[in-house]
Amino acid sequence: MGYSAESAVERAYRDSRINRIFEGTNEINRLLSIDMLLKRAMKGRLDIVGPAWEVQKELASMPSMELPTGTYGKEYKALKDFKKLVLMVAGAAAKMQMDGQLDLKTEQEIITNVADMLMDVFIAESTLLRVDKLSGMTKETPQEVYEAMLKILMHDYTFRMQRNATDALASFAGGDLLKTMLMGVKRYTKYTPQNVKALGRTIADYAIEENGYTL
Ligand SMILES: Cc1cc2nc3c(=O)[nH]c(=O)nc-3n(C[C@H](O)[C@H](O)[C@H](O)COP(=O)(O)OP(=O)(O)OC[C@H]3O[C@@H](n4cnc5c(N)ncnc54)[C@H](O)[C@@H]3O)c2cc1C
Repeated sequence: MGYSAESAVERAYRDSRINRIFEGTNEINRLLSIDMLLKRAMKGRLDIVGPAWEVQKELASMPSMELPTGTYGKEYKALKDFKKLVLMVAGAAAKMQMDGQLDLKTEQEIITNVADMLMDVFIAESTLLRVDKLSGMTKETPQEVYEAMLKILMHDYTFRMQRNATDALASFAGGDLLKTMLMGVKRYTKYTPQNVKALGRTIADYAIEENGYTL
């Protein structure tokens, strides 16, 4: 259906490709996003150093045993941890840069890893907030379908965050520093693995029953 021009989803497939090119390619925009964040931090318009320092302090302390509560409490906790992971990785890279041990301008791969993590945080947060908002609304699609989408996304992104963080850290840190940081990666990617097979079937069953894509 994605290939046939007469189907609605074909347009979405085509758009998803051009979205990676116009208004600046995805590679260039990834580099720019981190560059802009760092520049704003330097000018004092955005406080990144403070929160990054808080994460460093937390890493040196015992992990909290507090269990998440409320609707989507586990997902909110996972999202908070994703943000801490970005701060941990970006903070460590920025420190190496300030110490003259790293020149991020020539290390586009590291910047790309951090930018990918930022994008995943943004999408995870948008999805979570929308699904949470939908839970209180009257609608045609059952909440469990949206919930299945959210859980699959959080499950997938946990591994993506782990991967990007590990790739970035292993390319500029070593020895004890890397060991400590990898423990941080573990600590901030603890979202319980989901039964993605069953969740995927929940979504598929609904689409089959509706006989179409539901937007
Ligand atoms: C359908 C369509 C509509 C468009 N509409 C508009 C429009 O309305 N207005 C407008 O101004 N432009 C428009 N464009 C142009 C578009 O913005 C450019 O094509 C786009 O920014 C890519 O630039 P380029 O083609 O020069 O790629 P190049 O600069 O030749 O880049 C080629 C590849 O190398 C990568 N690359 C290049 N330099 C680096 C680097 N330093 N580090 C890492 N990777 C790098 C790029 O990300 C890309 O993947 C449009 C393009 C298309 C296809």
